[in-house]
Amino acid sequence: MKVSVLGSTGSIGTQALEVVDDLKGIKDIEVVAISGNSNISLLEEQIRKYKPEYAAVSDKSSADKLRIAVADTECKVLSGQEGLCHIAAESGADMVLSSIVGFAGLVPTICAIEAGCDIALANKETLVTAGKLFMDAIAEKGVRLLPVDSEHCAIFQSLHGGKPKELSKILLTASGGPFFGRTRDELVGVKKEQALKHPNWSMGAKITIDSATLMNKGLEVLEARWLFDVDIDDIEVVVQRESIIHSMVEFCDKSVIAQLSLPSMKHPIQYAFTYPDRLPSKDDRVSFADIAKLTFAKPDEDTFRCLALAKKAGKMGGIMPTVMNAANEVAVAKFLRDEIEFLEIAEIVEKTMDSYKAEKNVSIEQIAEIDKEVRQSIERGN
Ligand code: NDP
Ligand code: MG
Repeated sequence: MKVSVLGSTGSIGTQALEVVDDLKGIKDIEVVAISGNSNISLLEEQIRKYKPEYAAVSDKSSADKLRIAVADTECKVLSGQEGLCHIAAESGADMVLSSIVGFAGLVPTICAIEAGCDIALANKETLVTAGKLFMDAIAEKGVRLLPVDSEHCAIFQSLHGGKPKELSKILLTASGGPFFGRTRDELVGVKKEQALKHPNWSMGAKITIDSATLMNKGLEVLEARWLFDVDIDDIEVVVQRESIIHSMVEFCDKSVIAQLSLPSMKHPIQYAFTYPDRLPSKDDRVSFADIAKLTFAKPDEDTFRCLALAKKAGKMGGIMPTVMNAANEVAVAKFLRDEIEFLEIAEIVEKTMDSYKAEKNVSIEQIAEIDKEVRQSIERGN
């Protein structure tokens, strides 16, 4: 199988390449293209090791530096969104792993779908911002869409336990993040270093902050809504502190089927690469005696407002998820630059959503325009 890894320098991208290594001798996976934004030294290392035909760098001056650094190899270095779309659509890949962070992953992922490639989807923001158009393109092209987000991979696996019409609800698990159990007052003045300390997962900065605000779970509710064609009200978020149960589904006979494994993103990445087969994994096995207990709780949506806001945006539909997602991306970037307080992330998202109407039936171009407009307006401080 030929794979193009969009975002190969990130947390998911690097683990995906480790999965390729782990599967050596069991499944033949050729990495035909990789991409990054600024981490040129890691891209160079990956080019030398995996020998992809293409590498794309979104930033043009970084692309120039990489071109010089790998001039002695066969790798063609492309740049900008055009370059990303080229490696998504024209690198000869059978499967494209969409693991760029944020809205920037949307257009390249759509290009991959239109070129008829199967998609392993880590980038949840693309599905949140353009859910209907994304799913319509998948259906029209008849390509496979394999969820890499651990919860959605768990739901996908659990759904094999019954028929689609027998599903009654999805139980989407959440770790609760580093601030689980805190009151609003206890969140005043929390620093990014605290928010970046996730109890169970090591991930990129943006998703780690989203996990601390519970926006990550909000994005995942909308992701599940599109992936599995369920109503938002039929998706219940359950805090599962130990991150062992990665999500569950309840069927009409009240039987609940779950997928369990230790917290490792290599599991869903490998499953996407090998589906419909299961192949041996280098991950450790779950030892229930060592874990001893699994705990469950309700999320506190009054304190962690982002979860409620994302659901609201999903229910309003139209452009509202795009507005919500763009506002969140900018707010998180501002928090990471120490420009705003932790609690202001939800405030910015809410205020921005309040200033838009949920227009329906928009095109990808209009979604991109609205995304840009929201970003500019928040950066200007409106
Ligand atoms: P990282 O921040 O670790 O990596 C992001 C990747 O995207 C890097 O390769 C980065 O390049 C590239 N990138 C960043 N900005 C741009 C841009 N403007 N244009 C093109 N490429 C860009 O993120 P993660 O790997 O943590 O997350 C990736 C996606 O997967 C996110 O959507 C996240 O929500 C989702 N996800 C992640 C999980 C995890 O465990 N990490 C779990 C489930 C989902 P460079 O390194 O050169 O800057
Ligand atoms: Mg997840």
